[in-house]
Amino acid sequence: MQSKAKRPAPSVEIIDTPRERPPRPFQIDKLTSIPFFLVHIAAIASAIWIGATTTDIIVCVALYYIRMFGITAGFHRYFSHRAYKTSRWFQFVLAVIGGASMQKGVLWWAAHHRNHHKFSDMSEDIHSPKQDGFYWSHVGWILSNDYDHTEWDRIRDFAKYPELRWLNRWHWAPALVGGAILYAIGGIHWFVWGGLVSSVLLWHGTFFINSLAHVWGSRRYPTTDTSRNNFWLALITMGEGWHNNHHYYQSTANQGFFWWEVDCSYYILKMLSWVGVVWDLRTPPAHILAGKEPVSDAVSEVVSEAISPPVPPAALPTA
Ligand SMILES: [Zn+2]
Ligand SMILES: [Zn+2]
Repeated sequence: MQSKAKRPAPSVEIIDTPRERPPRPFQIDKLTSIPFFLVHIAAIASAIWIGATTTDIIVCVALYYIRMFGITAGFHRYFSHRAYKTSRWFQFVLAVIGGASMQKGVLWWAAHHRNHHKFSDMSEDIHSPKQDGFYWSHVGWILSNDYDHTEWDRIRDFAKYPELRWLNRWHWAPALVGGAILYAIGGIHWFVWGGLVSSVLLWHGTFFINSLAHVWGSRRYPTTDTSRNNFWLALITMGEGWHNNHHYYQSTANQGFFWWEVDCSYYILKMLSWVGVVWDLRTPPAHILAGKEPVSDAVSEVVSEAISPPVPPAALPTA
């Protein structure tokens, strides 16, 4: 069992060279942010207006966790970190399920997340509460047009799949189709509760990992960032709340490193591995669990290069 024994300090020197840039909170694009706020208003107003049945609540919670799995097991652990392997068809399924959460394109998401690990809490980190405040890290950077582009260089390994590039470009498609299906089956009630309300909750549940998980919780490992472990965030994000574990050793399929650290995404991945849908799930070696390796995001560039092998430039999109 892990104790709070002394951990070795990271033996890396952090060199942070701040960029010249305007204060970020003023970069939010008000026009393109309108749909984001409209969905919030529509979700709250229509939920109050039509009320909820027990079935509505079940649909809302089910679609929250199904899509959260697409984000955590798909967008995060697979596309960003390659923490396990799967087939081309199931990687597409993960991209569609995660895509239905309306968090922009799968390649956009994963590339920006790799950026977060490379520059965690340094000035180049695009969503650091330490650098730019809680609101910016939670939602401000998403509402800014400055980060709309997909950083293709960071996601070369998956950019070679045309079906993923298509989903990345038409990232609203899964949600639009999903919304239409919900309306066709359950009418306005399912559209409101399974679509609007569930999506707003899912947005903030996910965004909490960028904001709260760098502010609230405990730190087991001496990472060079502000990442925390938090049981409550792990519950609502299917295991992503063990964010300090994750920043210490980012390439594992499990983020709850010990049996008491609930990690529902990993439990499902484990079950999928039993039937051969996914395989080669990476887990932390003993010396990592014991905190004996000064591995941290400060040296993650090495990891990023390793998980993102070069492909011929001609295979990459130009826009
Ligand atoms: Zn983080
Ligand atoms: Zn990560």
